[in-house]
Amino acid sequence: MKRSNLLYLLPALAILSCSKDEITPNTEEQLIENKELAANVEVAYPDDFGLLSDVYYAGKKITVEEIDGDYIYEGDIVFSNDMITSRDVKVVFEKGEEIPAQKSVGRTSARWPNNTVYYSIDSSLPDKNRATDAIQHWEANTNLKFVQRTSQSNYIYFTPGSGCSSYVGMVGGRQNITLASACSTGNTIHEVGHAVGLWHEQSRVDRDKHIKINYSNIQSGREHNFKTYAENGSDGDEFTSNLDFGSIMLYSSYSFSSNGQPTIVKVDGSTYTTQRNALSSGDKTGINAMYPSGNTGGTTEPVAPTYINGEYYTISGLTVLRYRDTWFYNGTYGWREVKLYKGYWYWA
Ligand SMILES: [Zn+2]
Repeated sequence: MKRSNLLYLLPALAILSCSKDEITPNTEEQLIENKELAANVEVAYPDDFGLLSDVYYAGKKITVEEIDGDYIYEGDIVFSNDMITSRDVKVVFEKGEEIPAQKSVGRTSARWPNNTVYYSIDSSLPDKNRATDAIQHWEANTNLKFVQRTSQSNYIYFTPGSGCSSYVGMVGGRQNITLASACSTGNTIHEVGHAVGLWHEQSRVDRDKHIKINYSNIQSGREHNFKTYAENGSDGDEFTSNLDFGSIMLYSSYSFSSNGQPTIVKVDGSTYTTQRNALSSGDKTGINAMYPSGNTGGTTEPVAPTYINGEYYTISGLTVLRYRDTWFYNGTYGWREVKLYKGYWYWA
């Protein structure tokens, strides 16, 4: 049994932003500028609005946008059809109960084994150096290594798309990182961050201590992109103690703005500047906590995780609470103890 690793990086250092921008005047120039500020943030389908649907992932309901057969979450995170279900399927079984043939509602594993990410680049991808430069940056700054795929079954595939997008964590099989021509090397570093298991920085559970979401400025129907990963029922771990305004995984102050006014501000009301140049020192601290350097031995599995009492994890498609060194699930009948056996959860 291992911890599912839809892990969310929480960097150690809150990098002080020099931005002392005031809430901006409503001039046309400023609105255009704000739009450009938002434009460096990754979106899978910048020009399309999809149907919003409530689906089930890891036993919890989340809202996703369906575009072109993909399920988009928080703008640039893709869930495939087999990761989610349209109704709340049974996720915990009685002892001896027959397991129905069904697709998993979540992932059983999401961390790349051996600190090694396999990848391949679509020959039709323009500016392939965006992918290779991003990979080089990741290798230079973390314990991860990236190896060109030969016959491995799990790998990242850099391919053209209508925007920039990625799955979160290793999902099994080929997983696309889409890069439209507007996606920069920095955007590619961000998408690789998702692929190795990072959520967005503003999704952290304690983000309200650091930022305020201005829901009235968000494009109608896109409010779901601003929930924390916990509100969305996703698992995550916070490896550092503060929201990192320098993180390459942080949304812009103007992301998904309907009116050119900020959607995310610091708690004092000021906007901040996002960067898409490099992993911040906090990004590096967090990712190396997820992929420690000792993890490169001869095993094919990651180092066994230590489960912390009082924390939530998503394992084999279920979000469970670790308590007194056992697992609990909050289902229809409230909290009950569950046990994992051969990849399925059972009532204890
Ligand atoms: Zn993203």
